[in-house]
Amino acid sequence: MSKPPAFLSRLAAGEILLADGAWGTELQKLGLGTGECPEAWNVEQPERIRELAEAYCAAGADLLKTNTFNGTRYRLRALEHEGKVEPYNRAGAEIAREVADRHGVFVAGCVGPTGEYAEPRGLLTRKQLYDAFAEQMRALKAGGVDVALIETLSDLDEAAVAAEAARDLDLPAFVTVTFHPEPGGYRTLTGIPAPEAARALDALPAAGVGSNCGTGLADMVHILRQMRPHTAKPLVVQANAGLPRLEGGRFVYDDSPAQMAALLPELVAAGAQLIGGCCGTTPEHIRAFRAIVDALNAGRAKGRG
Ligand SMILES: [Zn+2]
Repeated sequence: MSKPPAFLSRLAAGEILLADGAWGTELQKLGLGTGECPEAWNVEQPERIRELAEAYCAAGADLLKTNTFNGTRYRLRALEHEGKVEPYNRAGAEIAREVADRHGVFVAGCVGPTGEYAEPRGLLTRKQLYDAFAEQMRALKAGGVDVALIETLSDLDEAAVAAEAARDLDLPAFVTVTFHPEPGGYRTLTGIPAPEAARALDALPAAGVGSNCGTGLADMVHILRQMRPHTAKPLVVQANAGLPRLEGGRFVYDDSPAQMAALLPELVAAGAQLIGGCCGTTPEHIRAFRAIVDALNAGRAKGRG
């Protein structure tokens, strides 16, 4: 057993930590076309990946995500980049590591859903799913990530398989699922209500659990209130910059850095301890979050002293 990264000790000590913001929507601003494979840029346009990573570190992120959300073999096949799991994930991790080391921050290897279901709902066996996650995370680990951030999951069985693959690689994992507002509460796309999802996530070999994408920050406050009674693990939140609207064939998100930052005290009161941004958030959002998180941490330190 290797020693836990300092990142986990800081969480355990009660510090609120800041992740970075969106990658997909920001890479689109840098010229990534709709339907293009973002992970290919880790190899083909590394300077653009480095540029965004630098912007997030300069904004004050404690944890930098790798550009590897679609990094499993099934997603890369769907994007017509089959056979690139190792090079894309490794390069993504190496770029993030290099930038993070310059700023003295941590790296989270980003792992998204495969887009496939395991039996009995879908065509893949549990072993095939496991192998896909293990293959991706092995390459992320070789590239130097500190932790795995398994995110935007809808299927809790898939989340469990991914968390097990991380554990078997001795890689601490954070697992976050996506909820949608429904009458009477929030559910995953597979229909699981937030309290039940929190109980299932609590049973996983994960260092933290929570929610990302799907909603804006105001909804995330409600989601965390529903999850908190069912898990004692650190809660991780990455909200979208509001709900998307379509403009010129692209989704745009309107919540400003100031609007989102104003909700952080409520989010932290609801239990959030690792906070970042999902779709539509930018380095400017993370900069605004940094100021609030610093104030909240200073208040906590005073409360302890
Ligand atoms: Zn998102």
